[in-house]
Amino acid sequence: MKILVLNCGSSSIKFQLIETDVEMIEADADRTIARGSVERIGTDEATLKVTVPPNPTRSTTEEILDHQAALARAVAALKECHAVADIAQIQAVGHRVVHGGEQFAASVIIDDKVEEEIQNCVELAPLHNPHNLRGYYVARKVMPQVPQVAVFDTAFHQSMPARAYIYGLPYSYYRRYHIRRYGFHGTSHRYVAYRYRKIFGLEREEANLITAHLGNGCSITAIEKGRSIDTSMGFTPQEGLLMGTRCGDIDPAALFYIMSKDELTLHDMSTLLNKFCGLYGISGESNDMRDLMAASARGDEQAKLAINVFCYRIKKYIGGYSAALGRVDGLVFTGGIGENAPAVRALACEGMEELGIQVDADRNAATLGKEGEISPQGSRIKVMVIPTNEELLIARDTFRAVRGLPNPH
Ligand code: ADP
Repeated sequence: MKILVLNCGSSSIKFQLIETDVEMIEADADRTIARGSVERIGTDEATLKVTVPPNPTRSTTEEILDHQAALARAVAALKECHAVADIAQIQAVGHRVVHGGEQFAASVIIDDKVEEEIQNCVELAPLHNPHNLRGYYVARKVMPQVPQVAVFDTAFHQSMPARAYIYGLPYSYYRRYHIRRYGFHGTSHRYVAYRYRKIFGLEREEANLITAHLGNGCSITAIEKGRSIDTSMGFTPQEGLLMGTRCGDIDPAALFYIMSKDELTLHDMSTLLNKFCGLYGISGESNDMRDLMAASARGDEQAKLAINVFCYRIKKYIGGYSAALGRVDGLVFTGGIGENAPAVRALACEGMEELGIQVDADRNAATLGKEGEISPQGSRIKVMVIPTNEELLIARDTFRAVRGLPNPH
């Protein structure tokens, strides 16, 4: 089945065309036929990029004024680039949807009821869900005959027990406003956990894992027998690890103090917390780990501090989740930083030999942007690098939902 995977943002649509079926999933032989994006939607300088491997990327700049026009152009481009002979070959659409609240613990075909429930979650993810929903509306217009499936970032973490997701607030806030920890990046954590088990030939019940997704946003998850039992992001993606531009865990009273000192509004605070904190805030320089590593190598103390805070926070969570799980079999690094920054992996794991976590310097240095074990041969806890592939999991979930097959967590 050929599936169009969509990730719809405020002014962009990212897409992949993936072919999958039961045999291909079993053999891990799903095929990414094409990938691309439309950016700067709403302007006369929108860029449409399509790559159909092994051909080079085709890039055009044109006027694309709304998301519907953007999707129509993207689909037409798939035909022009011979990714499909005819649009009718696209048999389903899978949407990344950030927030599924407590309603969705798995991927679902979108019908009127599901649409309404996603709509109800807009309040919980005002920066993302409206755009994800827009993706659904425009896909329904451009490809009306095709089933559409929602795959939620939060769904994987719905298995967390109440002790992990309830905040120490008056319980009525949970009842009235659904204030609780939801967790995000679920598709990524679920994918790398699946890959880990596949690599080692394990059943879901046979592996307890800690998975660290370190990209622009960062989160870390404790997975017991295939189920998320705790994760570092909370009510919003603000909680937990230090990130590119978000501060992660912080004493909330510090925020009131800043607001009163600098006379900031709620809107100012939201901007500060989303755009000016984290690696960028501490270094005063960049949110990109590559820049900070280069600056640190030149002796820049602020960059060095930002990296240290970043890695120390990861280490604390690894320790905490080791305790939560009781027994850890594997630790997985993924995301742009997790896949490409050996120095971060080494620093985050430093001094944890007593917990059974070790990193082999040569293996670590040699594992860049590819799958591989970075712990020494024979280690009890396997420390792994596994590039994430959320789109693949969205395609597989979409296929299974359309066929009425169960979606493994
Ligand atoms: P997103 O969370 O937006 O999907 P990615 O997972 O692609 O982002 O991660 C992007 C981040 O990965 C960049 O901001 C950068 O900090 C980091 N990164 C990418 N390549 C490298 C590298 N070679 N070394 C260190 N960090 C890297």
